[in-house]
Amino acid sequence: MKMIYDLIVIGAGPAGIASAYEAHKNGLKHVLLIEKAGENCQTFRTYYKDGKRVDKVYNKIDIPNIGNIPFEDGTKETSLELFNKFCDSGFEMMFSNEVEKIKQNDDILIVHTSKGEFKTKNAVISIGRMGKPNKPSYKLPSKLSKVINFNANDAKENEKILVVGGGNSAAEYAVDLSVKANVTLCYRKSTFTRLNDINLDNVYKAKMTLKMGIDIVEVNEVDNKPEVTYTNGEKEIFDRIIYGIGGSTPVDFLTNCGVEIDDKGVPTFDTNMQSNVKNIFVAGDIASKNGTSIISALNNAKTIADFITKA
Ligand SMILES: Cc1cc2nc3c(=O)[nH]c(=O)nc-3n(C[C@H](O)[C@H](O)[C@H](O)COP(=O)(O)OP(=O)(O)OC[C@H]3O[C@@H](n4cnc5c(N)ncnc54)[C@H](O)[C@@H]3O)c2cc1C
Repeated sequence: MKMIYDLIVIGAGPAGIASAYEAHKNGLKHVLLIEKAGENCQTFRTYYKDGKRVDKVYNKIDIPNIGNIPFEDGTKETSLELFNKFCDSGFEMMFSNEVEKIKQNDDILIVHTSKGEFKTKNAVISIGRMGKPNKPSYKLPSKLSKVINFNANDAKENEKILVVGGGNSAAEYAVDLSVKANVTLCYRKSTFTRLNDINLDNVYKAKMTLKMGIDIVEVNEVDNKPEVTYTNGEKEIFDRIIYGIGGSTPVDFLTNCGVEIDDKGVPTFDTNMQSNVKNIFVAGDIASKNGTSIISALNNAKTIADFITKA
């Protein structure tokens, strides 16, 4: 008979790596971490630019680390090094395998993946929210998909770039690009309320145009470039637009697993991060409305591991 795992963790970001590590450290023998990409930490690799500062206090979340992964302020590279190290600590890992759903069968959970089915007593869903970046409500011209982006990886020197958003990721994209490009940062609210102190300071010091308290109503194509129409009727043409407006909960995935979501699209869970489906837990960004922070993800993982191993 195929082995029944003690725990299968879905998604190898900070929450998933920490869930597998903490549970294994607490004595669970058969732990499997499944990642859909060929490498771990896809949010870091896709959305953090090389050399990015990674802050321990993020999204105004300033809480102690209750877990055993010693995450501190650093860079994209030091953070990846840390999480790579903890992937190599005794539990089983499987890459390039996308989990489709989890189904309950009596007391056992069946994890359906692109590489077949796996049985487990417990599962942690830690797939983040960035697999599906948020898109604006207006339609974007499909012809311009190369210059309308959801991260800053393709931006080029001297381009006229519009960064849209008022959170830390939009601020970081705008500040970094302002050194080499002509940047405008557009935020629909008149003040930044979600930026940490460093990003707030950097935004005001950087050489960029701030368009605050103004939104975008449409984007059209003019001579192969995006033309933006603002709520005040003004129009402006850019070489590139970068949206840094977060990611949405993978509602379909959760629904397919039978996990309830509230009216904000967030899964419901108890103090042990257990969803309405017994033995299915949620950790990290997926367990929040606007995304959380690495420390919250690590703390969710420790809470779950402690609960599973004493149950
Ligand atoms: C631009 C930017 C800057 C940020 N800067 C900071 C910072 O300085 N400090 C900080 O604390 N936080 C920061 N954050 C937030 C931080 O990155 C997240 O809070 C953290 O990555 C959440 O971890 P997670 O494990 O929940 O999800 P993720 O890191 O998103 O990991 C989810 C993993 O699950 C995998 N996956 C998805 N679907 C499936 C599936 N069906 N099957 C298998 N695998 C799947 C993905 O490929 C991915 O590897 C930043 C975020 C962004 C976007």
